[in-house]
Amino acid sequence: MKTIGIIGGGQLGLMIAEQARLLGVRSVALDPAPDAPAFAVTDERIVASYDDREALEALCRRCDAVTYEFENVPGDVLVPLAEKYRIPQGYKPLYDSQDRLREKENARRHGFRTPDYAAVDDEASLRSALARIGYPAVLKTRTLGYDGHGQQMLRSGADLEAARRLLAVPCILEQFIPFDYETSVVVVADRQEAVSFPMGRNVHRDGILDLCFVPAAIEPALEARIRRTAERFMRSAGYEGILAIELFVRGEEFWFNEMAPRPHNSGHYTIEGATTNQFRELVHYLVGEPLQRPELVAPTVMKNILGQDLEAARRVAAEGLPQVYVHLYGKTECRTKRKMGHITFVGMTPERYAAEWADRFVK
Ligand code: AMP
Repeated sequence: MKTIGIIGGGQLGLMIAEQARLLGVRSVALDPAPDAPAFAVTDERIVASYDDREALEALCRRCDAVTYEFENVPGDVLVPLAEKYRIPQGYKPLYDSQDRLREKENARRHGFRTPDYAAVDDEASLRSALARIGYPAVLKTRTLGYDGHGQQMLRSGADLEAARRLLAVPCILEQFIPFDYETSVVVVADRQEAVSFPMGRNVHRDGILDLCFVPAAIEPALEARIRRTAERFMRSAGYEGILAIELFVRGEEFWFNEMAPRPHNSGHYTIEGATTNQFRELVHYLVGEPLQRPELVAPTVMKNILGQDLEAARRVAAEGLPQVYVHLYGKTECRTKRKMGHITFVGMTPERYAAEWADRFVK
């Protein structure tokens, strides 16, 4: 029996472990929180911080292959481990994604178009970047930003004052793309092939993913082009394992926004909405089984459940409706804006969701 290790025990770790179990694969997670969601399902748990070398080494020793669901594992810890143990995705995709400037340079080098950008370190470089890129633009911290944190929209000179608070750390200024919608593509690749999942249309609220509508109502030819570009990107950049890429789409054009070498929130719908899912294909990759090509089962809507919607989600779960799949992550502390679960509605269109379901959740 094979065992996989997961650095990080949040909801992504939980869902990786759930799919591992269905495939008869054991799992061990490492997380600093004793009540981490994944620990409810993994066969073994290691409570330790992400830079605890001994604990990480103990995790690697117990496993046939190790992956990560936490994006900020320090390289000086991971690189020596990847040389000694099977962490097949390695440090490279993490390294490439940990800095927005490096991430965009890398995306361009390997075939994606990105919004125009410039490195910004102080007010002088901000002004010269704005002179080139123009308004509107988005100023972002280069590292450790997530869900819209560490960002400032610049519509005119009046926003410069607010931008100054970010300049304490290295930043990147990006051209603002007036996109029609946002989408993302999840790719899983082994040595032989890369498979990508059907793409959804992502709707954010307050910088956090709120809804994902699949299919994305995108021209099939455009979706095929984006998926091909993403699969080639993965090959060209020399990555294996799982990668999620967020994009902006406008008309026939698309731009790379950011990537994460782990399962992605927009791919949660695949558990019930596709013939195979992002977590299962990651496990297939980790244990060296052939990858399966996902197909969409039916139009699907994924609704994220943040703290403010937890009670509503419990009520939906109690109704036990067919094709309505409620996932609660078992987080012990419920807070507004904290991801507590998600609901997948299979056989659901955006129109029907708006008419029948949207009112059940906090607006
Ligand atoms: P990020 O953390 O980079 O994914 O940014 C969070 C959200 O801000 C994105 O999902 C977009 O809705 C918006 N955003 C970020 N960068 C840009 C951009 N260059 N153009 C337009 N919208 C953006």
